[in-house]
Amino acid sequence: MPTITLRLQLHNPTGAKQQMYQRMTEINTDFANWFLLHPEANKATSTIFKEFSDENFPSAVVNQTIREVKSQKKNQNAKTFRKIWCSFNNQNLKVERKSECYTVSFPALEKRVGVPVVAEPFQVAWLEKILNGNVKQGAGKLYQKKKKWYLAIPISWNVESSQDEKVMGIDLGLRYLAVASIGTNSLFFKGSQVANSRRRYSSRRRKLGQAKKLQAIKKSKDKESRWMKDQNHKISRQIINHALANGVGVIRMEDLTDIRNTAKSKRMDQGRNLHSWSFYQLKEFIKYKAEMVGIGFELVNPEYTSQTCKCGHQAKSNRSGLKFRCKECGHTCHADLNGAINIAKAISGLAA
Ligand SMILES: [Zn+2]
Repeated sequence: MPTITLRLQLHNPTGAKQQMYQRMTEINTDFANWFLLHPEANKATSTIFKEFSDENFPSAVVNQTIREVKSQKKNQNAKTFRKIWCSFNNQNLKVERKSECYTVSFPALEKRVGVPVVAEPFQVAWLEKILNGNVKQGAGKLYQKKKKWYLAIPISWNVESSQDEKVMGIDLGLRYLAVASIGTNSLFFKGSQVANSRRRYSSRRRKLGQAKKLQAIKKSKDKESRWMKDQNHKISRQIINHALANGVGVIRMEDLTDIRNTAKSKRMDQGRNLHSWSFYQLKEFIKYKAEMVGIGFELVNPEYTSQTCKCGHQAKSNRSGLKFRCKECGHTCHADLNGAINIAKAISGLAA
Protein backbone atom coordinates (compact mmCIF):
# COMPACT_ATOMS: atom_id res chain seq x y z
CA MET A 1 0.00 0.00 0.00
CA PRO A 2 1.47 3.38 -0.96
CA THR A 3 2.07 5.71 1.95
CA ILE A 4 2.91 9.35 2.35
CA THR A 5 3.43 11.26 5.57
CA LEU A 6 1.54 14.49 6.06
CA ARG A 7 3.41 16.87 8.33
CA LEU A 8 0.88 19.27 9.79
CA GLN A 9 2.21 22.22 11.68
CA LEU A 10 0.19 23.08 14.79
CA HIS A 11 -1.14 26.60 14.44
CA ASN A 12 0.26 28.98 17.10
CA PRO A 13 0.19 26.73 20.13
CA THR A 14 0.11 28.68 23.40
CA GLY A 15 3.12 28.60 25.71
CA ALA A 16 1.20 26.36 28.09
CA LYS A 17 0.39 23.89 25.31
CA GLN A 18 3.99 23.79 24.14
CA GLN A 19 5.14 23.09 27.67
CA MET A 20 2.64 20.30 27.90
CA TYR A 21 3.82 18.72 24.63
CA GLN A 22 7.38 18.97 25.89
CA ARG A 23 6.41 17.37 29.19
CA MET A 24 4.54 14.57 27.42
CA THR A 25 7.61 13.83 25.34
CA GLU A 26 9.80 13.69 28.46
CA ILE A 27 7.46 11.37 30.32
CA ASN A 28 7.08 9.18 27.28
CA THR A 29 10.84 8.92 26.75
CA ASP A 30 11.49 8.12 30.43
CA PHE A 31 8.76 5.52 30.37
CA ALA A 32 10.18 3.95 27.20
CA ASN A 33 13.64 3.65 28.77
CA TRP A 34 12.17 2.23 31.95
CA PHE A 35 10.02 -0.20 30.00
CA LEU A 36 12.92 -1.32 27.82
CA LEU A 37 14.55 -2.90 30.89
CA HIS A 38 11.36 -4.31 32.36
CA PRO A 39 11.69 -8.08 32.91
CA GLU A 40 8.11 -8.79 31.85
CA ALA A 41 7.91 -6.41 28.96
CA ASN A 42 6.51 -9.06 26.64
CA LYS A 43 3.27 -9.48 28.56
CA ALA A 44 2.75 -5.81 29.30
CA THR A 45 -0.41 -3.80 28.69
CA SER A 46 -0.95 -0.08 29.20
CA THR A 47 -1.70 -0.64 32.92
CA ILE A 48 2.03 -1.22 33.46
CA PHE A 49 2.42 2.56 33.34
CA LYS A 50 1.07 2.71 36.91
CA GLU A 51 4.15 0.83 38.07
CA PHE A 52 6.23 3.54 36.50
CA SER A 53 4.44 6.69 37.61
CA ASP A 54 1.30 8.18 39.21
CA GLU A 55 1.12 10.80 36.54
CA ASN A 56 -2.06 11.10 34.51
CA PHE A 57 -0.71 10.02 31.15
CA PRO A 58 -2.91 8.95 28.19
CA SER A 59 -3.06 5.18 27.84
CA ALA A 60 -3.37 5.62 24.06
CA VAL A 61 0.18 6.95 24.00
CA VAL A 62 1.39 4.26 26.42
CA ASN A 63 0.05 1.56 24.11
CA GLN A 64 1.85 3.01 21.10
CA THR A 65 5.10 3.35 23.05
CA ILE A 66 4.90 -0.22 24.34
CA ARG A 67 4.47 -1.39 20.79
CA GLU A 68 7.37 0.74 19.57
CA VAL A 69 9.74 -0.45 22.29
CA LYS A 70 8.82 -4.09 21.68
CA SER A 71 9.52 -3.81 17.99
CA GLN A 72 12.84 -2.03 18.59
CA LYS A 73 13.76 -4.74 21.05
CA LYS A 74 12.90 -7.43 18.54
CA ASN A 75 15.17 -5.83 15.98
CA GLN A 76 17.80 -5.50 18.69
CA ASN A 77 18.56 -1.90 17.92
CA ALA A 78 17.36 -0.56 21.24
CA LYS A 79 19.92 0.72 23.70
CA THR A 80 18.68 3.89 25.29
CA PHE A 81 16.12 6.13 23.69
CA ARG A 82 17.16 9.74 23.44
CA LYS A 83 13.66 10.84 22.61
CA ILE A 84 10.43 9.01 21.93
CA TRP A 85 7.75 11.33 20.58
CA CYS A 86 4.15 10.65 21.55
CA SER A 87 2.14 8.66 19.02
CA PHE A 88 -1.60 8.20 18.62
CA ASN A 89 -3.33 5.55 16.57
CA ASN A 90 -6.16 6.44 14.21
CA GLN A 91 -8.84 5.88 16.85
CA ASN A 92 -7.26 8.44 19.13
CA LEU A 93 -6.14 11.03 16.63
CA LYS A 94 -9.00 12.71 14.82
CA VAL A 95 -8.76 15.10 11.92
CA GLU A 96 -11.73 17.43 11.63
CA ARG A 97 -12.79 20.45 9.63
CA LYS A 98 -14.50 23.43 11.18
CA SER A 99 -15.67 25.66 8.34
CA GLU A 100 -12.43 26.66 6.60
CA CYS A 101 -10.10 25.46 9.31
CA TYR A 102 -8.67 22.00 9.94
CA THR A 103 -8.21 20.78 13.48
CA VAL A 104 -6.67 17.71 15.02
CA SER A 105 -7.64 16.28 18.37
CA PHE A 106 -5.74 13.82 20.53
CA PRO A 107 -5.47 12.82 24.21
CA ALA A 108 -3.06 14.91 26.27
CA LEU A 109 -2.08 15.12 29.96
CA GLU A 110 -5.40 16.12 31.54
CA LYS A 111 -7.90 15.63 28.73
CA ARG A 112 -8.22 15.55 24.97
CA VAL A 113 -7.14 18.67 23.17
CA GLY A 114 -8.40 19.91 19.80
CA VAL A 115 -5.97 22.20 18.04
CA PRO A 116 -5.96 24.01 14.69
CA VAL A 117 -3.30 23.04 12.15
CA VAL A 118 -1.70 24.99 9.33
CA ALA A 119 -2.96 23.30 6.19
CA GLU A 120 -0.62 24.05 3.31
CA PRO A 121 -2.41 24.20 -0.06
CA PHE A 122 -0.85 20.92 -1.18
CA GLN A 123 -2.07 19.20 1.98
CA VAL A 124 -5.74 20.11 1.62
CA ALA A 125 -6.53 17.38 -0.90
CA TRP A 126 -4.96 14.78 1.41
CA LEU A 127 -6.84 16.12 4.45
CA GLU A 128 -10.10 15.88 2.53
CA LYS A 129 -9.27 12.29 1.66
CA ILE A 130 -8.82 11.55 5.36
CA LEU A 131 -12.18 13.17 6.14
CA ASN A 132 -13.90 11.24 3.34
CA GLY A 133 -12.36 7.97 4.44
CA ASN A 134 -10.65 7.51 1.08
CA VAL A 135 -7.29 6.88 2.69
CA LYS A 136 -6.20 4.93 5.72
CA GLN A 137 -4.70 6.95 8.53
CA GLY A 138 -1.73 5.48 10.40
CA ALA A 139 -0.39 6.38 13.85
CA GLY A 140 0.31 10.11 14.13
CA LYS A 141 3.37 11.45 15.90
CA LEU A 142 3.57 14.71 17.85
CA TYR A 143 7.03 16.18 17.38
CA GLN A 144 8.98 19.40 17.49
CA LYS A 145 11.37 20.79 14.92
CA LYS A 146 13.01 24.20 14.94
CA LYS A 147 10.79 25.38 17.78
CA LYS A 148 7.61 24.47 15.91
CA TRP A 149 5.28 21.63 16.75
CA TYR A 150 3.96 19.20 14.17
CA LEU A 151 1.84 16.13 13.79
CA ALA A 152 3.21 13.61 11.32
CA ILE A 153 0.35 11.48 10.03
CA PRO A 154 1.10 8.64 7.64
CA ILE A 155 -1.71 7.95 5.21
CA SER A 156 -1.98 5.05 2.82
CA TRP A 157 -4.38 3.94 0.16
CA ASN A 158 -5.16 0.94 -1.95
CA VAL A 159 -4.08 0.75 -5.54
CA GLU A 160 -6.70 -1.61 -6.94
CA SER A 161 -5.18 -5.01 -7.65
CA SER A 162 -2.19 -5.59 -5.50
CA GLN A 163 -2.61 -4.43 -1.91
CA ASP A 164 -0.34 -6.83 -0.14
CA GLU A 165 2.21 -7.60 -2.77
CA LYS A 166 5.69 -6.19 -2.71
CA VAL A 167 6.03 -3.63 -5.46
CA MET A 168 9.09 -2.59 -7.42
CA GLY A 169 9.05 0.77 -9.19
CA ILE A 170 11.36 1.40 -12.14
CA ASP A 171 12.28 4.86 -13.38
CA LEU A 172 13.96 5.22 -16.77
CA GLY A 173 16.24 8.16 -17.44
CA LEU A 174 19.39 9.26 -19.18
CA ARG A 175 22.09 9.61 -16.58
CA TYR A 176 20.72 6.53 -14.94
CA LEU A 177 19.19 4.28 -17.56
CA ALA A 178 17.12 2.58 -14.94
CA VAL A 179 16.61 2.93 -11.22
CA ALA A 180 14.63 0.15 -9.58
CA SER A 181 13.33 0.55 -6.06
CA ILE A 182 11.61 -1.74 -3.60
CA GLY A 183 10.93 0.70 -0.80
CA THR A 184 14.34 2.09 0.03
CA ASN A 185 16.14 -0.92 -1.41
CA SER A 186 17.40 0.27 -4.77
CA LEU A 187 19.32 -0.78 -7.84
CA PHE A 188 20.97 1.76 -10.18
CA PHE A 189 22.05 1.29 -13.79
CA LYS A 190 24.39 4.03 -14.90
CA GLY A 191 23.87 5.49 -18.34
CA SER A 192 27.40 6.73 -18.98
CA GLN A 193 28.62 3.58 -20.69
CA VAL A 194 25.70 3.65 -23.09
CA ALA A 195 26.17 7.37 -23.72
CA ASN A 196 29.88 6.89 -24.49
CA SER A 197 29.25 4.03 -26.81
CA ARG A 198 26.55 5.94 -28.68
CA ARG A 199 28.85 8.91 -29.03
CA ARG A 200 31.50 6.66 -30.58
CA TYR A 201 29.01 5.16 -32.99
CA SER A 202 27.65 8.50 -34.07
CA SER A 203 31.03 10.15 -34.54
CA ARG A 204 32.12 7.20 -36.65
CA ARG A 205 28.99 7.58 -38.74
CA ARG A 206 29.66 11.28 -39.22
CA LYS A 207 33.02 10.43 -40.76
CA LEU A 208 31.45 7.76 -42.92
CA GLY A 209 28.86 10.31 -44.00
CA GLN A 210 31.51 12.74 -45.13
CA ALA A 211 33.05 9.93 -47.15
CA LYS A 212 29.57 9.04 -48.47
CA LYS A 213 29.89 5.43 -47.35
CA LEU A 214 26.19 4.70 -47.05
CA GLN A 215 26.48 0.94 -46.80
CA ALA A 216 28.90 1.25 -43.92
CA ILE A 217 26.60 3.72 -42.16
CA LYS A 218 23.75 1.25 -42.26
CA LYS A 219 26.02 -1.46 -40.93
CA SER A 220 27.11 0.75 -38.06
CA LYS A 221 23.50 1.54 -37.19
CA ASP A 222 22.61 -2.15 -37.11
CA LYS A 223 25.62 -2.88 -34.98
CA GLU A 224 24.64 -0.18 -32.54
CA SER A 225 21.08 -1.47 -32.20
CA ARG A 226 22.34 -4.99 -31.62
CA TRP A 227 24.66 -3.69 -28.93
CA MET A 228 21.85 -1.68 -27.30
CA LYS A 229 19.52 -4.65 -27.47
CA ASP A 230 22.12 -6.77 -25.72
CA GLN A 231 22.47 -4.09 -23.02
CA ASN A 232 18.71 -4.01 -22.55
CA HIS A 233 18.62 -7.78 -22.19
CA LYS A 234 21.31 -7.63 -19.53
CA ILE A 235 19.66 -4.80 -17.59
CA SER A 236 16.20 -6.36 -17.71
CA ARG A 237 17.60 -9.71 -16.59
CA GLN A 238 19.35 -8.11 -13.61
CA ILE A 239 16.19 -6.24 -12.69
CA ILE A 240 14.07 -9.38 -12.79
CA ASN A 241 16.65 -11.33 -10.79
CA HIS A 242 16.67 -8.56 -8.19
CA ALA A 243 12.86 -8.63 -8.10
CA LEU A 244 12.82 -12.41 -7.66
CA ALA A 245 15.46 -12.30 -4.94
CA ASN A 246 13.34 -9.79 -3.04
CA GLY A 247 9.97 -11.48 -3.43
CA VAL A 248 8.47 -8.76 -5.60
CA GLY A 249 4.91 -9.46 -6.76
CA VAL A 250 4.38 -6.50 -9.08
CA ILE A 251 6.63 -4.29 -11.17
CA ARG A 252 5.44 -0.80 -12.04
CA MET A 253 6.77 1.48 -14.73
CA GLU A 254 5.62 4.75 -16.22
CA ASP A 255 3.27 4.72 -19.15
CA LEU A 256 5.24 6.75 -21.67
CA THR A 257 2.93 6.12 -24.62
CA ASP A 258 1.83 9.73 -24.94
CA ILE A 259 5.01 11.39 -23.94
CA ARG A 260 6.28 11.85 -27.48
CA ASN A 261 3.11 13.63 -28.48
CA THR A 262 2.79 16.44 -26.03
CA ALA A 263 4.85 19.59 -26.08
CA LYS A 264 4.86 19.83 -22.31
CA SER A 265 6.26 16.40 -21.72
CA LYS A 266 8.88 17.11 -24.36
CA ARG A 267 10.17 19.93 -22.26
CA MET A 268 10.04 17.82 -19.14
CA ASP A 269 11.65 14.79 -20.58
CA GLN A 270 14.01 16.08 -23.17
CA GLY A 271 16.45 13.42 -24.06
CA ARG A 272 14.14 10.60 -23.18
CA ASN A 273 12.75 11.16 -26.67
CA LEU A 274 16.14 10.81 -28.28
CA HIS A 275 16.34 7.31 -26.97
CA SER A 276 12.70 6.48 -26.95
CA TRP A 277 13.07 3.30 -28.98
CA SER A 278 15.64 1.86 -26.62
CA PHE A 279 13.56 2.80 -23.59
CA TYR A 280 10.56 1.23 -25.25
CA GLN A 281 12.60 -1.91 -25.87
CA LEU A 282 13.89 -2.04 -22.30
CA LYS A 283 10.33 -1.68 -21.01
CA GLU A 284 9.12 -4.49 -23.26
CA PHE A 285 11.98 -6.76 -22.14
CA ILE A 286 11.20 -6.12 -18.47
CA LYS A 287 7.53 -6.73 -19.12
CA TYR A 288 7.87 -10.09 -20.86
CA LYS A 289 10.58 -11.32 -18.49
CA ALA A 290 8.40 -10.39 -15.53
CA GLU A 291 5.45 -12.21 -17.00
CA MET A 292 7.58 -15.27 -17.72
CA VAL A 293 8.39 -15.66 -14.03
CA GLY A 294 4.90 -14.78 -12.80
CA ILE A 295 5.58 -11.23 -11.63
CA GLY A 296 2.76 -8.78 -12.37
CA PHE A 297 3.44 -5.79 -14.59
CA GLU A 298 1.56 -2.50 -14.35
CA LEU A 299 1.86 0.90 -15.95
CA VAL A 300 1.29 4.06 -13.94
CA ASN A 301 0.50 7.61 -15.02
CA PRO A 302 3.75 9.51 -15.38
CA GLU A 303 2.48 12.89 -14.21
CA TYR A 304 4.36 14.30 -11.25
CA THR A 305 6.26 11.11 -10.47
CA SER A 306 9.53 13.03 -10.53
CA GLN A 307 8.23 16.14 -8.76
CA THR A 308 6.35 14.77 -5.78
CA CYS A 309 7.77 14.43 -2.29
CA LYS A 310 6.92 11.75 0.23
CA CYS A 311 5.18 14.50 2.23
CA GLY A 312 2.75 15.01 -0.66
CA HIS A 313 4.19 18.32 -1.86
CA GLN A 314 4.40 18.48 -5.63
CA ALA A 315 6.35 21.15 -7.50
CA LYS A 316 8.54 21.21 -10.55
CA SER A 317 11.19 23.08 -8.57
CA ASN A 318 11.54 20.15 -6.16
CA ARG A 319 13.75 18.54 -8.73
CA SER A 320 16.92 19.88 -10.24
CA GLY A 321 19.06 17.49 -12.24
CA LEU A 322 19.94 14.45 -10.22
CA LYS A 323 18.88 16.06 -6.99
CA PHE A 324 15.47 16.02 -5.40
CA ARG A 325 14.94 18.52 -2.62
CA CYS A 326 11.45 19.23 -1.34
CA LYS A 327 10.72 22.95 -1.09
CA GLU A 328 8.21 22.24 1.63
CA CYS A 329 9.75 19.75 4.09
CA GLY A 330 13.38 19.74 2.97
CA HIS A 331 13.45 16.00 2.25
CA THR A 332 16.32 15.13 -0.09
CA CYS A 333 16.77 12.10 -2.27
CA HIS A 334 18.40 10.99 -5.51
CA ALA A 335 15.91 12.35 -8.05
CA ASP A 336 15.62 9.16 -10.08
CA LEU A 337 15.25 7.06 -6.95
CA ASN A 338 12.50 9.37 -5.74
CA GLY A 339 10.85 8.89 -9.13
CA ALA A 340 11.12 5.11 -8.87
CA ILE A 341 9.64 5.19 -5.35
CA ASN A 342 6.69 7.29 -6.57
CA ILE A 343 6.20 4.95 -9.52
CA ALA A 344 6.05 2.01 -7.14
CA LYS A 345 3.44 3.92 -5.11
CA ALA A 346 1.50 4.75 -8.30
CA ILE A 347 1.27 8.25 -6.95
CA SER A 348 -0.70 9.51 -9.97
CA GLY A 349 -2.72 6.33 -10.27
CA LEU A 350 -2.47 3.30 -12.51
CA ALA A 351 -2.60 3.97 -16.25
CA ALA A 352 -5.90 2.95 -17.79
ZN1 LIG B 1 8.32 17.17 1.25
